[in-house]
Amino acid sequence: MLQMRTVAVTTILALASTPTPAGQPGQGVAAPGPTPDQAWLMLREGNARFASGNVVNPNTDAARRQEVAEGQHPFAIILTCADSRVPAERLFDRGIGDLFVIRVAGNVSDTDEIGTIEYGAGHLNAPLAVVMGHSACGAVKAVASGAEVHGSIPGLVDNIIPAVEWVKKNRPGLAGEELINAAIEANVWQSIDDLFTRSEEVRGLVEANKLKVVGAVYDLASGKVRWLGEHPYQDRLLVAPTEMDKPHTANVPEPEAPAAKPTTPAPAKQAQKPESPTATPSAPAHATPSHKTADAPTPSGDPHR
Ligand SMILES: [Zn+2]
Repeated sequence: MLQMRTVAVTTILALASTPTPAGQPGQGVAAPGPTPDQAWLMLREGNARFASGNVVNPNTDAARRQEVAEGQHPFAIILTCADSRVPAERLFDRGIGDLFVIRVAGNVSDTDEIGTIEYGAGHLNAPLAVVMGHSACGAVKAVASGAEVHGSIPGLVDNIIPAVEWVKKNRPGLAGEELINAAIEANVWQSIDDLFTRSEEVRGLVEANKLKVVGAVYDLASGKVRWLGEHPYQDRLLVAPTEMDKPHTANVPEPEAPAAKPTTPAPAKQAQKPESPTATPSAPAHATPSHKTADAPTPSGDPHR
């Protein structure tokens, strides 16, 4: 614990000492802020503090308000659910001006969310974007259960439908909470896939190593964030982000597979529908999930690349 607190304080101080570009608030000035991996480490450390009840509530005082009034330089973008139990700044133990947060039911990536992410990454230079689902997500549950929805909600949850359908088709043995949990994770991949597919700007930033996009699932009860890493087919999404590559979630890993299957996309799928170019995308070797997609990337303690 002592070691963890020491590391946490170190990174907080490192961030606090990041020079603020003179003038031009929020105008894309290239501030020497944290790298994507440093930003990721800061979130992991913050969530560890939160989950263990050792929060430090950084960057919440009047001095910080004064500082960020001059311009914002958030170090991470968080796309997560509007659910009242998923308060991003709290669960990452961060303060004012730290996180560029987009909250929408089901953490979907549609036009407004993608545009907001593009602003956070392209104009504010945030080096990390996290798409974070959460346990017991009502939006995913509604889709999975086929609940009747009205008003503008159908147009919202339609982004979630492909993820749920993929889980039901490819993991037919799942039911109840297992089905919901698998759909929640598939929906994170779906959202990341939609982001890459529709945003040339995001693809460009990722290819230039100026932005990292990772998935995560927050557990309501424990307060812990389970990190999913980068999309297992990110390389393919960067190369061929077209409608032809859908369904997006066809190759998501199969975590916690009961039959002791490795947590890798099943390459056998590519042989199932060889006749159709729109069939499940094949699994090129270069897109095989690497260590980066491990469930719990270990805070290295050395975020320098
Ligand atoms: Zn939710």
